[in-house]
Parts: sequence; structure tokens; C-alpha cells
Amino acid sequence: MSSRPTVYLSNTGSSRTEGHHGPGRAWSAQVSPRPIMRHVADGQVEASKPNPATFARMARGAMTFAEYLESTADAFEGYRRGGALAPGKLTGRPWSSWHGPALVADGDTLLCTCPRPGSKDWTRPCHLELLARQLVLAGWDVVLGGRRLVFDSALVVWDDTRDPYVVGSWPFGKHNARAHGTAQLGMFE
Ligand SMILES: [Zn+2]
Repeated sequence: MSSRPTVYLSNTGSSRTEGHHGPGRAWSAQVSPRPIMRHVADGQVEASKPNPATFARMARGAMTFAEYLESTADAFEGYRRGGALAPGKLTGRPWSSWHGPALVADGDTLLCTCPRPGSKDWTRPCHLELLARQLVLAGWDVVLGGRRLVFDSALVVWDDTRDPYVVGSWPFGKHNARAHGTAQLGMFE
């Protein structure tokens, strides 16, 4: 068993799916939290969001989706190298200004509204899939779409298959809905 704390990365629609959300608090990872986030999340985590300016450029077509992913991956790597993603550092900000910042804790969940990885509606990566890698490298176990990612010999791997983690692929396992290495094209919220 791993002694690392676990953070869950999921979407708002999976709140009743066993094993997808953790038992702790929920936090929004969206640039502009949807209204539903106010109901299901306790606040937001800045270091789990894409850069708002980068997101806006992608959204208006001034940047390709691939460029957006690359830029976002670089940003998350920078957050990790700066220490902001580590357990004991990763911090959430509750919606209410009456409450001060709170550390993201073992069992907490970071949420987006993208389709669930591995589902039929999953056509391209959510930024949380990029964040997952950096969180594992920062010292967390990560449950992404109900499956655990762990650190093993300098690699981020799926705990069930021991396959290396590749953003945008969902390897065969007991939870798979797609073939290994399926490329994604399509909508991103
Ligand atoms: Zn998303």
C-alpha cells in the first residue's frame, strides 16, 4: 500500500459513481466555474486551473487545442517545480470570503465538467489529465476517472495495469471503455 495521500480528479457528473470522488472536500478546477460547481464544490484551487489567458486564446481560436495542451502542461510542470502542487502546499480557496484558504487534503477531489476519461463522450483530454501527471510527480496518488495513478521507478503508471500513463489514452483494464491509445479529437468545454 502506498503511504501517499490520494487526490481524486473527476467531473461533476460522476459524483454518484463509486470510487470517482473522494470522501473529502470537492474543489473546482475550472477557469470559470460553472453554476453547478457552487453546489458540488467547496471552493476552487488556482493551481489546478489552466491559465485564463491561454484558455481564452484557445477558446477564440487564436491557439490550437494541441498548443493549448502543450502550454497548459508546461504551466502545470512549472507549478510542480515551484512546489505549489505538493501535499501540504496545494491550496484551495473556499467560495465564501469568510473562510480562509485550506490545504487540499487526502481524499479531496478536483472537479471539471468534461466527459469522463475512457467514456464514449471523451473525445479529447481535459486539463486535469495533464495535471494528474504533475500531481503524481509532486507526491500524490491520483485517482483519475476512477482509476489510480501511482509513481513507480520514476514513471507515472496505472496501478491496475502498470502501464505508463499517457495523456489521452485509456489502457485496457477492468474499467476501460476504449481501446489502448485511442486518439481524441473533438469538443473541450
Ligand atoms: Zn475539463
